Amino acid sequence: MPLIPDHLICLDALDEALRQAASQSRPLGVCLLWLDCVYRIDAIFGYRAGDTVCAKSLAHLKSILKEDDQIFRVGRSEIACLLPSLANETQAVLAAHKIIRTLGNRLVLDQYAVHSEPYVGVALFPTHGHGADTLLQRASSALREARIRKEPVFIYSNEADAATQFQLQLQTDLRYALDENTFTLNHQPQTDLRSGRVVGMEALSRWHSPIRGAVSPAVFIPAAEAAGLMHRLTIRVLNVALREFQELGPAAQDLTISINLSAHDLVQAEMPALLTQALATWSVPAEQVVIEITETTIMDDQHARATTLERLKEIGVQLAIDDFGTGYSSLARLKHLPVDELKIDISFIQRMLHDSRDENIVRAIIDLAHNLQLRVVAEGVEDEATLQRLIAMGCDIAQGHFLSPPLPLEQLRSWLMQPERD
Ligand code: C2E
Ligand code: MG
Ligand code: MG
Repeated sequence: MPLIPDHLICLDALDEALRQAASQSRPLGVCLLWLDCVYRIDAIFGYRAGDTVCAKSLAHLKSILKEDDQIFRVGRSEIACLLPSLANETQAVLAAHKIIRTLGNRLVLDQYAVHSEPYVGVALFPTHGHGADTLLQRASSALREARIRKEPVFIYSNEADAATQFQLQLQTDLRYALDENTFTLNHQPQTDLRSGRVVGMEALSRWHSPIRGAVSPAVFIPAAEAAGLMHRLTIRVLNVALREFQELGPAAQDLTISINLSAHDLVQAEMPALLTQALATWSVPAEQVVIEITETTIMDDQHARATTLERLKEIGVQLAIDDFGTGYSSLARLKHLPVDELKIDISFIQRMLHDSRDENIVRAIIDLAHNLQLRVVAEGVEDEATLQRLIAMGCDIAQGHFLSPPLPLEQLRSWLMQPERD
């Protein structure tokens, strides 16, 4: 099987195969295979070695596929398989799984064993399209979805395509937004429930896109993570949050500033060094900074994350577990984590007056926190009655729209200076 690194030849062959399939009213499958190991082999052993692996894989495929199936190398690490003699569409899916079984696991290259986890995207004629270009594009979209979901085989679906398009566009817009620095921060005050005084503020990212309008962080944070942009965004957030905190001057003297980090940030070994640098740049004492990490992230037993947490703690900052109650905390692990604060998830606070089970959960979290000598914060307090119930339960701190929504810096400054705040 010659190496034909040309998608145009593949498209011509697909055109012809489609003509025949249509005239015989038979289905046709396009499987687009991504050999994950080729880039690694190129980098470690060189491009010739990468080509050898592709050639071996093509030969393997030839031996397991049917006589009139056609195989093309359409990219550095992508192979298209055209399957024209299908009795039904399910056979294409079976073929895709056979491809994975054949090429997955270990590939032997000279004396080296290389681990391989290939993915296949499948598009079918006539279900997913009639033209060669459309079918290959849809197989490619399915392949991308397979890689995102980490499922070895993914069959094209319209919804997946729309979702992929949306994500791709969003990620492109985010890249521009980072380059042009169009992110801002709002700060939400946190009130001590015993004294009624403001004791801290949480920095929350805001993005006003010229095209999309205001985009929620619940949408753009995961997109930034998926696009590999989270690191840049976090460095920006850290520096802007600390700069604005410092700009508050004496008004922030007795306050803390809480900053959210994402799961991705905790696997970055240089995170503690970046934080140390930002603290020094903006002259903010470490003990006035609270780093918030969601419960799901903190309970993930990944070694790199645990190490980063300990190193963050060594800097002297405080640590909080955000959205507590929604993840799966191991109490044994919680006991050993270097945390200072639990933040009860908004969903429990918002339902606690209407559902006694939620109220019981809130009470249990407050007791748990106090028994472990941790501070407990309720977020999402929207009315007086909830606030009073939390006070009665002994909750330490609250934040929520009833007290104040997240505010831009200058509005926060005025809010802090209102007479009743003194
Ligand atoms: P979070 O850290 O749990 O933040 C609390 C969310 O509740 C914020 O949503 C806040 O605006 C909202 N909130 C506060 N009070 C109320 C209330 O009374 N009622 C209701 N319904 N909502 C209230 P927001 O700003 O949309 O942020 C959503 C999530 O996005 C945050 O949840 C946080 O996990 C993440 N996020 C925001 N900014 C950043 C950031 O700079 N970095 C990272 N890694 N994540 C961020
Ligand atoms: Mg938070
Ligand atoms: Mg939260």
